[in-house]
Amino acid sequence: MHELGVAQSLLDYLEKAAKEHHLKKIKSVTLKIGKMRQIVPETLVFLFQTLAEGTIAEQAQLQIELLPVRVHCLQCNQTADLPPRKYSCPHCGNSSLEWVSGKELIIDHIEGDPIDAN
Ligand SMILES: [Zn+2]
Repeated sequence: MHELGVAQSLLDYLEKAAKEHHLKKIKSVTLKIGKMRQIVPETLVFLFQTLAEGTIAEQAQLQIELLPVRVHCLQCNQTADLPPRKYSCPHCGNSSLEWVSGKELIIDHIEGDPIDAN
């Protein structure tokens, strides 16, 4: 269940980011996660909300965008989405592939309320 580690790191990151950007509250977070990561979005949201209780991100909406496992074939020069547990080009069967997406774990966007100046 590595969602727990991801949720914890995300929360640590948000607390740092909030300090840096002078936010009093995080309202929403958008994550981009490659399917290779095998993260279950519902599990991650649940764990995040549990861990975030009593923190600056308590009311944050966690949006998760899953990115397909996509490769570029160096043999036939085509781009394709890989089916689960397959590592060869669906067009020509070659396994000299370049990653286009699928391994990401990116914090794409954070929205928060700034601390009032006065
Ligand atoms: Zn190919």
